[in-house]
Amino acid sequence: MNEYLQKVLTQTEQNNANELEYLQAVNEVLGSIEPVVEANEDLYKKTALLERMVEPERIITFRVPWVDDSGQTQVNRGYRVQFSSLIGPYKGGLRFHPSVNQSIMKFLGFEQIFKNALTGLPIGGAKGGSNFDPKGKSDNEIMRFCQSFMTELYRHIGQDVDVPAGDIGVGGREIGYLFGQYKRIRNAYEGGVLTGKDICYGGSLARKEATGYGLIFFMREMLAANNLSLEGKTVIVSGSGNVAIYAAEKAILNGAKVVTMSDSNGCIYDPNGIDLNLVKQIKEVERGRIKEYQKVHPNAQYLKNNAGEDSPIWTIKADIALPCATQNEISLNSAKKLVENGIIAVGEGANMPCTSDATNYLLEKNILVAPSKAANAGGVATSAIEMSQNSMRYYYTFDEVEAKLEKIMINIFKACNNAANEYNKKGNYVAGANIASFKKLADAMLAQGIV
Ligand code: NDP
Repeated sequence: MNEYLQKVLTQTEQNNANELEYLQAVNEVLGSIEPVVEANEDLYKKTALLERMVEPERIITFRVPWVDDSGQTQVNRGYRVQFSSLIGPYKGGLRFHPSVNQSIMKFLGFEQIFKNALTGLPIGGAKGGSNFDPKGKSDNEIMRFCQSFMTELYRHIGQDVDVPAGDIGVGGREIGYLFGQYKRIRNAYEGGVLTGKDICYGGSLARKEATGYGLIFFMREMLAANNLSLEGKTVIVSGSGNVAIYAAEKAILNGAKVVTMSDSNGCIYDPNGIDLNLVKQIKEVERGRIKEYQKVHPNAQYLKNNAGEDSPIWTIKADIALPCATQNEISLNSAKKLVENGIIAVGEGANMPCTSDATNYLLEKNILVAPSKAANAGGVATSAIEMSQNSMRYYYTFDEVEAKLEKIMINIFKACNNAANEYNKKGNYVAGANIASFKKLADAMLAQGIV
């Protein structure tokens, strides 16, 4: 590896020794931009460009005290990693999940800057959240937590400063409570401060569908470039949240058959094709578990997760895999199983769902991989469209937003494809996405001086 790149990687490893997810994300990006770095080495070295790119502009952590329904005070930790404001206000979701820690926040923030650059829209990169677990909490507990979280976060965000949105555990309900508290503290209706809002108070039509739909637009383009299509393909989807549900919906609309969905307890396998209306009812309305699917479709199988083992979902035979739950859900072993079963493409709906060795193995075996920072960028792109509508005090129809999303995803695919071809990595869209986004950020960094 190039000496300068190696030096920055080693330094990053020393400075962030316990942050494994963050190091994984940095390694993946730096590992694929060598030709760009070699062509600009003196300038990048002199301006410490890579050193600056791997150091977040700001990390905020804070205490979030709240009172549960029994009257007991609880304390969680809140985070906001404002990674880069190079090309626009900080932008990225909030995750509420017990696994949240600084490493996960930094990996997600780092990924976000490249993803947002790929959209072509003026948005910087950030991520935030808390180790709060929303599972099993009452609406009132969720509201009190969100209000306490925002009572600290409000001083760090703003519609031209930093614009959070949803992620795991943060959907329309949470965004509503967060927005209500922000508005109350600020005594101003700054609609563009959060995205993923409900339609009734400034949200964008098609935002809910955007990440999943965008993933399928990208997948469609990637397959078409390789003379393939979604029509008639069997698809395994993991997760049953926002991204998974709408990826499954669009895949079905494109003629594919989706046979699985999951949550952190296990997966449903319905060889006849998943009944998506039922999944929406269980997950979006009742906030239940995917296992309940079997009550209505007793012929579907329920495969339970075993602690410490890979999800059984990746052992099911299919043409296309769409991991839409969480990071590192496809290990090398699972990747081998997918290849053994004849998979042709993997579309990453979740952020960094494949471990590094799983990605490398899939690429070695010539499996088409749609990398998350490109393939799931439709969510944040549509968030930026929500911000535009808020600024204009206007709204677009569902079809108008979807048409803009589709165009953006087509352009993202082209950018990844062109960069891969230009740098001799034909068919490697993982490298293509990293190179295309890195070049844009590097140019912006050089243009703005040493800041
Ligand atoms: P949701 O909270 O709506 O759904 C998450 C789903 O993944 C649930 O089914 C959840 O199951 C499952 N899940 C979460 N953690 C784990 C785990 N550790 N092991 C197994 N399953 C798990 O989140 P989203 O759909 O919004 O997000 C899913 C992924 O997509 C994340 O990686 C997120 O960063 C990424 N993403 C989301 C975007 C968005 O617009 N929402 C945009 C771009 C990326 P359970 O209910 O049991 O926890």
